[in-house]
Amino acid sequence: MRLTRINKQILLGILFIAFFGVNSFAQKKQNFVIVIDPGHGGKDPGARGVVEDEKDIVLDVSLRFGKMIEQKYKDVKVIYTRKTDVFLELWERTQIANRNHANLFVSIHCNAAGNRSAYGTETFVMGVARSQETMEVAKRENSVILLEDNQEKYQKFDPNDPEAVIAFDIMFSAYKDQSISFAKLVEDEFVKNNRHSRGVKQANFHVLRSNASPAVLVELGFISNQDEGTFLSTEYGKKSMTESLMTAFDKFKKEYDRKNGLEEEVEEKPKVVEKPVAGKTFKIQFLVSKNKYSPSSEQLKGLTGVEIVQAGDVYKYYYGSTNLPSERDELLEYVKRKGFKDAFVAEFVNNEKLKGKENYRIQFLASGSRYRDRDNKFGGLKNVLRVKRGDMHLYFYGSSKTYEDAQKQLKLVQDKGFKNAFIVLFDGEKLTNN
Ligand SMILES: [Zn+2]
Repeated sequence: MRLTRINKQILLGILFIAFFGVNSFAQKKQNFVIVIDPGHGGKDPGARGVVEDEKDIVLDVSLRFGKMIEQKYKDVKVIYTRKTDVFLELWERTQIANRNHANLFVSIHCNAAGNRSAYGTETFVMGVARSQETMEVAKRENSVILLEDNQEKYQKFDPNDPEAVIAFDIMFSAYKDQSISFAKLVEDEFVKNNRHSRGVKQANFHVLRSNASPAVLVELGFISNQDEGTFLSTEYGKKSMTESLMTAFDKFKKEYDRKNGLEEEVEEKPKVVEKPVAGKTFKIQFLVSKNKYSPSSEQLKGLTGVEIVQAGDVYKYYYGSTNLPSERDELLEYVKRKGFKDAFVAEFVNNEKLKGKENYRIQFLASGSRYRDRDNKFGGLKNVLRVKRGDMHLYFYGSSKTYEDAQKQLKLVQDKGFKNAFIVLFDGEKLTNN
């Protein structure tokens, strides 16, 4: 028997309800499930960034996002498609969502473009790509299929075939509105946090297509762009993007509860205000080396704002600074994920004075030439100490008893244009030996 198009639509509709409709009746409070899907991973790095690659940025933001939800909501279960740097096939990602009856599926990605000036965020919902540009993003995010072993798992979807389009429209109409509403919330929050939004778009992503839940794919920005790529690699940038996602989720969840008559029952976990540890600052020491690396060096694996202190003939490398135990633990986890397995927490007593004749100075110049006091090379820095080492003359500014004062002097020297200046531990006017 030949089915008419109308019959086909009805049939698809029935199938759709049979397969997926049950979920909405089975949902009780206590089990709003969000599946967070950090894109790419393992052998698939995703887009290459100016500082950090897509797979690392999105994993980091995803873990932060999930953790924030877990800390705030008792009635939300967070499931990740991956929590480490592993390769996952696209169908596995959606399977995780479907198996767990997700109420929301959020796939997190970063964009890249040949045109390095391209920037901004965008959030996709399942649909038929309306523009060439959107098709390009879909092509790139789907391209991982080529890395997978069983490509036959992916049915052909031809956006030009009206029947296929109708079939998908039916299948996703129930979730489409919710997907679009969450996508809009996400983009609105990005804008509030000073990002440039390219808007909510529709595209045929496999990872969205096979989802039996509201599903969005968020592009956090273009990591091929110098500014945005750098921003997304910093602690600050990742935090800011996570907070936007969180606020969007708060609003989505509130609306979900309201629609499901759960408003009165909503219990938020009491917010525990964490006390800072008095008188101490935590930093992560991740490297000790006889080599002095520049801030952009590959050895630092994209960590930004690294502090370097020379003591004797080794350089110690520190990342981050906090007096909150939770942040300290997060920083350590982050640095370890970056590949510094031996990283540990270094505790600094605030304003602790060095003992005896010990003091910190700022090395800002090393040269084969011997310069006189107030040489033009010093950029106006006064009372410069010169130390001869081998054939080299090393030039130092200032002298301070506390690390905090040394940081201030370092800043002053860097502002004079000596960007590679660093802190060195001295014993009187001599470099320390240990
Ligand atoms: Zn991606």
